[in-house]
Amino acid sequence: MSKGIVYLVGAGPGDPSLITMRGVECLRRAEVVIYDYLANEQLINHAPATAERIYVGKIGARHSKGQDEINAVLVEKGLEGKVVVRLKGGDPFVFGRGGEECQALKEAGVRFEVVPGITAAIGAGAYAGIPLTHRDFTASVKLITGQEGKDKDESNIDWASLAQDKGTIVFYMGITTLRRNMEHLVEHGRSPQTPVALVRWGTTSSQQVLTGTLADIAEQAEKIGFKPPAITIVGEVVSLRETLRWFDTRPLFGKKILVTRSVDQAGDFSRMLCEHGATAIECPTIHIMEPQQWGPLDEAITKINEYDWLVLSSANAVSYFFKRLEEKGLDSRAIGSCRVCTVGHKTAEVLKTYGIKADLIPSDYKAEGIVEEFAKLDIKGLKVLYPRADHAREVIPLELARMGAFVDSPISYSNVMPEKLPPEAVLALETRSVDCITFTSSSTVRNLAAMLGGEDRMLDMLKGVAVASIGPITTKTCRAMGLKVDIQSEVFTLEAMTDGIEKFLSSPP
Ligand code: SAH
Repeated sequence: MSKGIVYLVGAGPGDPSLITMRGVECLRRAEVVIYDYLANEQLINHAPATAERIYVGKIGARHSKGQDEINAVLVEKGLEGKVVVRLKGGDPFVFGRGGEECQALKEAGVRFEVVPGITAAIGAGAYAGIPLTHRDFTASVKLITGQEGKDKDESNIDWASLAQDKGTIVFYMGITTLRRNMEHLVEHGRSPQTPVALVRWGTTSSQQVLTGTLADIAEQAEKIGFKPPAITIVGEVVSLRETLRWFDTRPLFGKKILVTRSVDQAGDFSRMLCEHGATAIECPTIHIMEPQQWGPLDEAITKINEYDWLVLSSANAVSYFFKRLEEKGLDSRAIGSCRVCTVGHKTAEVLKTYGIKADLIPSDYKAEGIVEEFAKLDIKGLKVLYPRADHAREVIPLELARMGAFVDSPISYSNVMPEKLPPEAVLALETRSVDCITFTSSSTVRNLAAMLGGEDRMLDMLKGVAVASIGPITTKTCRAMGLKVDIQSEVFTLEAMTDGIEKFLSSPP
C-alpha cells in the first residue's frame, strides 16, 4: 500500500494552542500542508520547514480555490505517496466540507484519517463566557448554517421547529444573513427579547463580541459594520456572559506589545504578556551567540579551583559558562567550593538547574547593586571570575578590583545584532498598531534604532507607542536617544514590567 495519507486536521477556532495533540503530531510529520484562511499561521509552523505549503483559502463567497480543485489537490498529493495534512478551521466535519473531501479521497483510493478540532461554537462560546448549555436555561444546542436559505424557497431549515425549541442556537456564516435569520425566529414564535451574541474571531486577540436581542441585534450589527467571520449565539445562556466573561476582560486584552529580546529569551516574556491578554509580537534586536574567541574563558577554566567567587550576571552568562565547562569535559563539580553570586532570582533559578545554589543574590539588579553587596564583604585579595558578554559595562570588574580583589572577566558570550527585523513587527510599526514596546537592555534600544535606519526613524515609528524599560540604565539609553520612557518598574523583573505596562495602558496619564 502506498504510504500516501491525508490527515484532515481540525485546527481549532483560532487560538493556536487549541489544536489537539494528535493534530500537532500529524503536522510534525507532514510533507504537504494544505490550509485555508481560518487556520492560524502559527500552527503551520509545526510542520517541518521542508514541507510544501499550499494555501487554498476561502474568504466568504470569494473562494480562491473551488472545492473541486481542493479535492483534486488532496487526491493528487495523496496518490503521489505524500503525508498530507489538510488543516481546517475548527472541526473538519462541522460545516467544514470535510465530508466531501473524505468522499473524494475514498473514491480515489487514498487513505485518510480525521482529527477532530474544537469547533467555532464551542471555542468562541467558551472565550466569550457563554456556556452553550446550562441546567437553568437549556438542554439543547443546535448548530445551523446561516447561509442556508438565502433564498427563502430553498431553505432546508425548519424555522418553525427551530423557533419553538427554546434551546441554544448557534449560526455559522450567518452575518450577511443576520437580519433575516433573526426575523425568521421571531416570526415563528421565539421571543424578540431572546438574548443574542455575535462573536467574531473568537478565541483570538481580535475577538469582538456584540450582544443584544433577536429584535435589535441586526440593527446594532449594521450600525457598527460588524463583519464575518463570526458566529451568532441565540438563547437565554447569552445572558450569562455578563458575569462569566473572562477572556476579553483580561487587563491587556487587545493590546499589541513588541518584545525586543533575543529569540531564546523572548518566549517567557511573550507568554506572560499573552496570559494577561496581550498580543506579543517578537521583534528580536539582539542575538546571543558564542564569543568570537574562547581563549580567555578557557584559560580561566583551567585554573577554576583558584577562584573564590564566581559572578554570573544573567541567565546567558550561566548557560554559556556551564556549556563551556562541559565542552572541556568538566561539570559543575569543577567550581568546587567557589562561592557564586547571581544577579536576580531568574539567574539563580537557571544556576539551580546545574545543581548549584547561589550564595549571594543582590536585591538591586544593577551592576552598582552587586558592587554594593560585595562592599559589605571583605574581598581584598580574593580571586573573582566574572564571565561576561562583550560590550558589557565595566563597572563590576573595575569596582571589585578597587576593593582589592583580583578579577578575571573573560568574554563568554556575544551579543550581536540580527540581520533584519521580522516583517510582522515592521508591519505592526508601520501601520501604527503597536500599543507598547519593551526594552530589556540598552542594546535592545540601540540595535532597534540601527535596524530601523537611525534614531530619527525610530522616534517617528514609536510616536504614540508606550515605551517600557526594564531599569534605569536602559531608561537612560532610551532618553539619550530622545525616547520618552512611560513605564519603568521599581523591581527589574519581567513580572514587574508586565504590571507596569498593565497599569499604564489601562490609565495612561
Ligand atoms: N469547520 C469550522 C467552520 C467553518 S465555516 C468549525 O468547525 O468551526 C466558517 C464559519 O465558522 C465562519 O463563517 C464563522 O461563522 C465560523 N467561525 C470559524 N472560526 C470562527 C471564530 N474564530 N470565531 C467566530 N466564528 C468562527
